[in-house]
Amino acid sequence: MRRIFGAICAVVLLLSGCARAESAASRQIFAMDTVMSLQVWGGDGEKALDQAQAAVYALEQQWSATRAGSVVDRLNRQEALTEQEQAVVERITALSERTGGAFNPRLHSLTELWGFPTQQYYVPTAEEIAQAMEQQDWDFGAAMKGYTGQVLADLMKELGVDRAILNLGGNVQTMGSKPDGAPWQVGIQDPEGDGYLAVVQVEGTTSVVTSGSYQRYFEQDGVVYHHILDPETGAPAKSGLRSVTIICRDGLLADCLSTALFVLGVEKGTELWRNSDDFEAVFLTEDGKILATQGVTLTGCSYETISR
Ligand code: AMP
Ligand code: MG
Repeated sequence: MRRIFGAICAVVLLLSGCARAESAASRQIFAMDTVMSLQVWGGDGEKALDQAQAAVYALEQQWSATRAGSVVDRLNRQEALTEQEQAVVERITALSERTGGAFNPRLHSLTELWGFPTQQYYVPTAEEIAQAMEQQDWDFGAAMKGYTGQVLADLMKELGVDRAILNLGGNVQTMGSKPDGAPWQVGIQDPEGDGYLAVVQVEGTTSVVTSGSYQRYFEQDGVVYHHILDPETGAPAKSGLRSVTIICRDGLLADCLSTALFVLGVEKGTELWRNSDDFEAVFLTEDGKILATQGVTLTGCSYETISR
């Protein structure tokens, strides 16, 4: 009988240190299949959080893989998108090309075949995989939480919020610095437990997005199958990694790249980083090594630096 280990939500721990919690407005909401914790300072905090919450629910509907009338539904039916929606889809498509297709937003049938969205897990045959890959139907699941973080940061800025830490189920968006002026500290989850392995220090409007094989997986006949699929094989990516964390100014970019670099692995992921100047990355390998590109400041662990 198949043994299912079930889905595990990514949790990046926030180490707010001596942040003055009393002056923050904070809220927890459940959206996009995860618990989100929003904390903001400055402006009218409660009003800003009301608007942030409404924006998250609206984005969830707009980009849903299953709701009639969503962008996905309209794309699959070749119906019109708004200009703004079209611009996001074009960016996502360009990012897919930039990653050589490692990030592929058209794998919905394939992820359904493996049963990841429904948790009705199944190991498909090669023929079933090939058929599902032909469908090419859209799925923005690997990009949307990062995009949402970015939209929220823009909205918070408009509403006069000057510091924020928005944890969208392990995808973290920061603004400004901690109330004491120190950088935000964002923990990278230890896949083997509830704790964290390393702490990234970031300042200003920054996205810290992690993709990991421990976030959703099942086991059958002693083999573990995780949810990040290699578009070349249609099967879970075997890149020797447990997780990849991307740190950059743009949430959509961070989310697309976290998935892509997980598929690509350290060597090809590093090559992509060397040819870019808009992100940093932290790789956690299956054998427990941590490697960080040279623009990252990590504390709480020993790690190797990848230089240009
Ligand atoms: P993330 O956690 O951002 O890496 O997104 C993983 C989710 O994106 C999976 O649960 C699938 O729904 C979908 N997905 C899996 N593999 C890929 C891929 N290679 N490119 C784009 N989306 C993917
Ligand atoms: Mg992603």
